[in-house]
Amino acid sequence: MMLISAAKAIELLQRGEVVAIPTETVYGLAADARNELAIAKIYATKQRPANNPLIVHIASMAQVADWASEFPPLAQTLAQAFWPGPLTLVLPARAEVSATVRAGEPTVALRVPAHPVALALLNESGLGLAAPSANKYTQLSPTTAEHVTSGLGQDVPVLEGGACQVGIESTIVSVHGDDWQLLRPGMIDAEMIAAVAGKLPTQPTADTPKAPGQHLLHYSPRTPCLLFESKSAMRHYAASKPAAAALLFGDEQPVTLTDVYLPNDPAHAAERLYAALHTLDAAQAEVILIESPPATPAWDALRDRLQRAAYQLHDQND
Ligand code: AMP
Ligand code: MG
Repeated sequence: MMLISAAKAIELLQRGEVVAIPTETVYGLAADARNELAIAKIYATKQRPANNPLIVHIASMAQVADWASEFPPLAQTLAQAFWPGPLTLVLPARAEVSATVRAGEPTVALRVPAHPVALALLNESGLGLAAPSANKYTQLSPTTAEHVTSGLGQDVPVLEGGACQVGIESTIVSVHGDDWQLLRPGMIDAEMIAAVAGKLPTQPTADTPKAPGQHLLHYSPRTPCLLFESKSAMRHYAASKPAAAALLFGDEQPVTLTDVYLPNDPAHAAERLYAALHTLDAAQAEVILIESPPATPAWDALRDRLQRAAYQLHDQND
């Protein structure tokens, strides 16, 4: 693993290189968002299609004006409430923001991350950093430095920052004028945003920005995954599949020989979700059986990620 110092990370980023950095959500593959060649290296390293835009990480709310042509009062209220933190705001972009970063959209996605290492890097480098998750396209997101290296190889320099505490990707909210919409669920859930916004999200219209790159197959282990609505349905299926592994919530009630349990509360479960899936993937099971979390707003983001992890096999079975 190529671990580097913060000083080295700044030097590399200022030279237009990519560096994997810790954030509170997942590790990001960072590059100078104003440098076209550096941005191209992100897409190449991740093997990410060019129609999938990048989130720009900034040091503070004061930098929004460098990237967005409008910062509506509602967006300011959300930023004040949730930044630094796992909320990305999609706002109208200034014309000079790289079309590669925006993937051709008229909007730019902005976030102030809460991880102290990421914040120090942003403050000291003076850069805005495009930083999608530091993994290959569609694969599992990394929540440790080891995950980054096992997914992207030894040549990608990594700034170590411990295990990510939120553990899944940011909530993405689009704000246009007085209206907001949820483009991707995350640990800041729709109810929390509605409470601060003082209003519910609006239905998408023709003018609503899309969140391109939200493919159904995403965040996926290499091992096929199957989602179950109950432990009993899982146990029934597992009886005929001796080489299965399982991801479960709550108390330990064995289902397969390779069970991994997540805590029964959403924040702690999210923190450990990707590490659990990385572990299960390494077990080389024939299939990973996944228990669906409850269908309540607090669990929406986990349900979303697990549905995407399980999409491929689900699709084939349809
Ligand atoms: P991540 O994979 O965590 O870096 O998040 C990138 C995702 O953010 C993309 O796949 C889009 O869904 C969303 N996104 C980024 N920029 C924009 C934008 N300008 N407009 C709408 N969605 C965006
Ligand atoms: Mg990603």
